[in-house]
Amino acid sequence: MIWDTHAHLDDSQFNSDRDAVIQRAKEAGITTIVNVGTSESSCRQAVSLAARYSNIYATVGIHPHDAKDCSNETWELLSQLAQNPKVVAWGEIGLDYYRDFSPRDVQRQVFIHQLELADEMGLPVVIHDRDAHGDILQIVKKHPPQAGGVFHSYSGSWEMAKELLAIGFYLSFSGPLTFKNARHTLEVAANVPENRFVVETDCPYLTPEPYRGKRNEPSYVKEVINKIAELKAIPLEKALTLATENSMRLFKTTK
Ligand SMILES: [Zn+2]
Repeated sequence: MIWDTHAHLDDSQFNSDRDAVIQRAKEAGITTIVNVGTSESSCRQAVSLAARYSNIYATVGIHPHDAKDCSNETWELLSQLAQNPKVVAWGEIGLDYYRDFSPRDVQRQVFIHQLELADEMGLPVVIHDRDAHGDILQIVKKHPPQAGGVFHSYSGSWEMAKELLAIGFYLSFSGPLTFKNARHTLEVAANVPENRFVVETDCPYLTPEPYRGKRNEPSYVKEVINKIAELKAIPLEKALTLATENSMRLFKTTK
């Protein structure tokens, strides 16, 4: 029994077999999947997926890649979608200085605006941070999310992690934790408190070993939790229970 706290099942890579992927996840013991929105259309699809499947929740938010395309209508649409009881967080939001698909000043402005919207809606936030550790840390320290949040596929240092944990964030681990060059992340996963970690796939991206090279899917989240149990030197059963309890606390759900 385990959650995949970050999936993109609305992605077109799942168009031919979405139902089968969701069924496989169920059979593999993935009890709950959080489908994360990234754009206006993906937020709409996330909410409709959550309406169709009892084991899927949705989030709404605009990814930094799409920050340049936001308007007042975007915020009206997302605020409306966020009223749906199956929307459990605002995200994914943040900064991506690796691809720089939107100008950095626009990314920062849109990120801060969405932190404020999440507070208004009383939702936790899902944060995307790629090569933007310094600016992200400065912004979240200035605007700590009132309902908490998670750094998805955490890739920062243990030093930064300690600062995020101090303001209440959870850290989410994904496929790269299983890679040979994971050094940084291994240290963070080994040290993160037992009540502050969750796991995810970020599927169809970030496929864990031994499936690297293939499309990722929620059932593969087991490889990530196996690695966490190993790093923390705790039984797998305990790691599964902790991750599930943490997911429910983070997203404020009862199942
Ligand atoms: Zn994602």
